[in-house]
Amino acid sequence: MISFAGVGKSFGDNHVLRELDLSVDEGEKVSIIGPSGSGKTTILRLLMTLESPDSGMVRVDGSPLWDRRADGSGVDAKRQSEVRRKIGMVFQHFNLFPHMTVLDNVTLSPVRVLGMGREEAEQRAVELLQLVGLEKHLRHKPGQLSGGQQQRVAIARALAMRPKVMLFDEVTSALDPELIGEVLSVIRDLARTTAMTMLLVTHEMRFAEEISDRVLMFDSGSVVESGPPGQIFQNPEHERTRRFLKAVL
Ligand code: ATP
Repeated sequence: MISFAGVGKSFGDNHVLRELDLSVDEGEKVSIIGPSGSGKTTILRLLMTLESPDSGMVRVDGSPLWDRRADGSGVDAKRQSEVRRKIGMVFQHFNLFPHMTVLDNVTLSPVRVLGMGREEAEQRAVELLQLVGLEKHLRHKPGQLSGGQQQRVAIARALAMRPKVMLFDEVTSALDPELIGEVLSVIRDLARTTAMTMLLVTHEMRFAEEISDRVLMFDSGSVVESGPPGQIFQNPEHERTRRFLKAVL
């Protein structure tokens, strides 16, 4: 469903991704763990076309999203936005529109981007807000909700676009500790019940262990080790993984 082949990305002298090869199967739930600044978020931002790679190729659902190979032909903007539309992302800082109600936040893109009728979009939004336990807050503005509730709205908003792939970028990092559980619980249920491909950058090791089919240990712009959670957390092969887990667990 997702593949990175020889992808490089630098910010000035900072080589954030180095010849990255990575693939995620359809329906697979994959967590990316690793030290701060190792490039984890950059992987997700490339998939959202919020950053562009310097080299290599990224494919989603069989179609090119980025083609920056030396002999590559590039990807035209229209094709890229069609591919990009298959992906939804939930950010660390929610990124909801503060002046709009919860309902409007969730219906905006289906109406504007997918051309869905207002009534259908609202019906679907209500179902999704029920799924994340927020059906009582349809008319509230984000500022009237807790951080955990805002993050659950952000999850509903991403789901409203019916993505094939969902990206979660450290979605509990900005939350007070007592609000983390409610957000993880929604994601856990999604992982169990949907066929969507899920890619999660997380510092919640127990959560990653519980919900992932596979865990990628990432450091200095490349994958150090990849395997089922049991292997990565109980029996890591690489010294770098052992050191990282010792520091964070
Ligand atoms: P964390 O766990 O702290 O979020 P990360 O592994 O997700 O870290 P990235 O956010 O991908 O790391 O950042 C990798 C490196 O790239 C960092 O050194 C960061 O400062 C740098 N970086 C990221 N985005 C930009 C940008 N837009 N401009 C310049 N440098 C950037």
